[in-house]
Amino acid sequence: MKRALQLNDSVRHLNGVGEVRATALAKMGIHTIRDLVRHFPRGYENRGNIRLLTEGTDGAKSAFLLTVGTVPKTVRLKGRLTITKFRAFDESGTIDVVFYNQDYVRQVFQVGSIYRFWGTLNQTKSKWTLSSPAYEPYRPNGSLPDYISVYSANSAVNGKILQGLIDMALAVPIEDYLPEDIRLRNHLPTLSWALKQIHHPDTPVFMELALKRLVFDELFCMSVAVSANRSRESLPRVPSCSPVDLSPLLLALPYQLTGAQKRVVEEFKNDLISPQRTPVSAMRRILIGDVGSGKTVCAMAAMYTIAKNGYQVALMAPTEILATQHYHDIAPLFKQLGIQTELLLGSTSAKEKRRIYAGLIEPEAPISVVIGTHALLNNKVEFSKLLLTITDEQHRFGIEQRNALSDKASAAHLLVMSATPIPRSLALALYGDLSISRLDEMPPGRQKVDTFVVNESFRERLNGFIEKQVEAGGQVYVVCPAIEEQTEDVVPYDADEVPLTSMQPTRRRPMKNVQEYAQQLQAALPHITIGTLHGKMKSAEKEAIMNGFVGGDIQVLISTTVIEVGVNVPNACLMVIENAENFGLSQLHQLRGRVGRGNRKSYCILVSNFTGDIARQRLDVMTKTNDGYEIAERDLALRGPGDFFSSACNSEMRQSGGFNLRLAKCCDDPSLMHAAFQEAAAYIQKDPQLTLPESAPIREELTYYFNSTENSIS
Ligand code: ADP
Ligand code: MG
Repeated sequence: MKRALQLNDSVRHLNGVGEVRATALAKMGIHTIRDLVRHFPRGYENRGNIRLLTEGTDGAKSAFLLTVGTVPKTVRLKGRLTITKFRAFDESGTIDVVFYNQDYVRQVFQVGSIYRFWGTLNQTKSKWTLSSPAYEPYRPNGSLPDYISVYSANSAVNGKILQGLIDMALAVPIEDYLPEDIRLRNHLPTLSWALKQIHHPDTPVFMELALKRLVFDELFCMSVAVSANRSRESLPRVPSCSPVDLSPLLLALPYQLTGAQKRVVEEFKNDLISPQRTPVSAMRRILIGDVGSGKTVCAMAAMYTIAKNGYQVALMAPTEILATQHYHDIAPLFKQLGIQTELLLGSTSAKEKRRIYAGLIEPEAPISVVIGTHALLNNKVEFSKLLLTITDEQHRFGIEQRNALSDKASAAHLLVMSATPIPRSLALALYGDLSISRLDEMPPGRQKVDTFVVNESFRERLNGFIEKQVEAGGQVYVVCPAIEEQTEDVVPYDADEVPLTSMQPTRRRPMKNVQEYAQQLQAALPHITIGTLHGKMKSAEKEAIMNGFVGGDIQVLISTTVIEVGVNVPNACLMVIENAENFGLSQLHQLRGRVGRGNRKSYCILVSNFTGDIARQRLDVMTKTNDGYEIAERDLALRGPGDFFSSACNSEMRQSGGFNLRLAKCCDDPSLMHAAFQEAAAYIQKDPQLTLPESAPIREELTYYFNSTENSIS
C-alpha cells in the first residue's frame, strides 16, 4: 500500500503532476504539498450572487443561471481558430454562449441542462454574447459554493488545475503547531480549518477568521524566529579597542551633541571598548533615528574610536549622492584629526579604484576609513584590518548586502542605521537580532515645517507659491510618483474580484510624472531654473543636477523619491509632494525632512485629490505633527500593520531574515499584531532557544517560513 502523503512530500507525488507540471509549479515557488496548501488565492469571485441576463449588461463579471437551449455547434474560422456556440436562456432572455478553440465543450453541454456561468456579457451588433465563461453544473439543492478562489497561475498550470491540486493537498492531514493555549487565548481557529477556509470560504466571515489565524501565524513565527536567532547566536569575538578621547572630534564640530546623541555614543563605546583589552563580542546594533536627528555624527564617534585604534571602517550608503555627501561631511574633519578617508563609488575611475584597493590592504598603515556605495561589495575590495562596517539607510539594502559588507572581515562590528522611525513594538519584532539604539531627540533649533493638504484646484496658487519662494531666494523640491507618463495599469486585481485583503482594489489613477510636470511648470514660470532627477538617469547626470541644486543654480528640483535619502540642502524651504496619498506616512515624513534644515521658514504641500476618509485622515496627521515616531504610531493605528508593512516597513520586513510575510500585508488590525508579538515574546522567554520537546512543531514551522539558510533554525 502506498504510504500516506505528508506535507513535506514533493508535489510529484500527486496524481496528475509529471515533470512538466512540477517544473511549472516550481516556477511559482511550489515544490511541496505544504507549498501548495499555502499558495493562497489572490482573491475570490463572488458567484453566489446570481443575476438575470437583463441585469448583467453593465460590463461587470457576473454569475448567471442558464439553461442550454440549442445543441452546441463548432465552426472553423480562419486559420486554426474554431468557435463553439449555443443558445442559453433564463427567465429574462436568451444569449449566445461562445467558446474559442474548446471543441470539447460540445460534449459538455446537453440541451435542457442548467449551468452556473461566470463571465461578462458583451454586445455584438444587436446580440448579447457570453464568451468563454467559467461554468459549473447546477445542482438544485444549492450546494455550489458562493466564493471561488482566484489564483496566480501560469500557462502550464492554469487556475482550474491549480485548484484541483490544492484540493488534493488539503486532504493531507495538517497538525497545528501553535500551542493550544495560545490559540484559544487569541480566539483563533485551528490551522487546518483556516487553510481550508482560505481556499474555500463558506462565508466572508469565515474567510476573515481564517485570514486572522494565518496572519497571526506569520507575525508570531517571525517574531519567535528573530528572537530565537538572537538568543542562540554566539557572537564572534573581535579585538577590543582602547578607550579613545573623543574631545578632539567633539571640539571640531560646530555644535554640541544632544543628550540622545551622547547616550548613543556611550552605547557604541560600551560595545567597542573593553578596559581589560580582552576580545569583546562583536557589536550588532541598529541606530534608529528620524531624519535629521544626527545619526552621522554618532557613527563618526565610533569610526573615530576604531581608526584611532589602528583599525579600519567601511561605511556603505545606498546612493552615490548620499555616499558623496557623507564623504564631504566626514573626510575634511577626519583629515584634520589625522585620519585618512577615501570615497569609492561605481563611477570612481579605474585608476583611483586601484589606488584605493591597494591602500586598503596595506598591512601596517592602511586607509582608515572608506565610504562608498555597493561598489564596496566588489570582490576586489579587501581590507587588512577591518573592524567596523556601517550601513546607512539600511532599509534600502537587502540583508545579503548588509552581511556581504561585514563578510569582508573575519569578524567585525556591525552597525546599521535606519531613518524609518518605527514604533517600538515593531522595532523589537523586526530587529530582535540586533541591539537597538534610538535617537529620540532632535538637535536644537529645528524649525517646524508647516504642512498643508491641497487638491488640484489649488494648482495656480501653488505655482504662485513656488514662484514666491524662488524669488525670495529659496529653493523648492517637487516629488512626483512617476518618471514619465505611465502606460501600465496599476490595478492589482481584476476589478470584479473581491481581493483577499479587505482593501479596495486600486483603480487606475493618473499619476503626476517628473517629465510632464517639469514642462508644465516651466511653461507656467518661464524665468525659473528647473532641474529633474530620477532613477533612470546616469549617475554622472544625477550628480550634475544634484550639484546644481546644492550650488543654488537650480531653483526647483523635480524628482521621484530618489531624493528621499539623506540629501542636505539647507536653502531648500518648500517641499511639494504630488499624489501624496500614494506614499506611506513615514515616507512623506522623510521627504518633508528635506526642508526646514536652514534658516528659511519652510513648508510642505501635500497635493492629493483623493477623497477617501482614511486617506484624508492620514494626510491630516502630517499637518499636525513633525515627530516621526508619533507619525509612525498613528500610521500603524490608522492603517493597521498591513498597509504599514507594505510601505514604510516593507523592505525592512522583507529583510528581517528573508521572512516571507505574505498575508500580514492584508492585516488591518494592530491589536492582532501586538497579540502575536506578545505571545511570541512570552514563548521565547520560556524556551529561548526552542530546545524543549514541545517546541519541535514550532521549529518545523519556522523552517518553512525562512527561506534563507543563514537564518534557519538548525
Ligand atoms: P540623519 O540622522 O538624518 O542622518 P544627519 O546626521 O545628516 O542626520 O544630521 C543632520 C544635520 O544636523 C547635519 O547638518 C548635522 O551637522 C546636524 N547636526 C547633527 N547633530 C547636531 C547637533 N547636536 N546640534 C546641531 N546640529 C546637529
Ligand atoms: Mg543620514
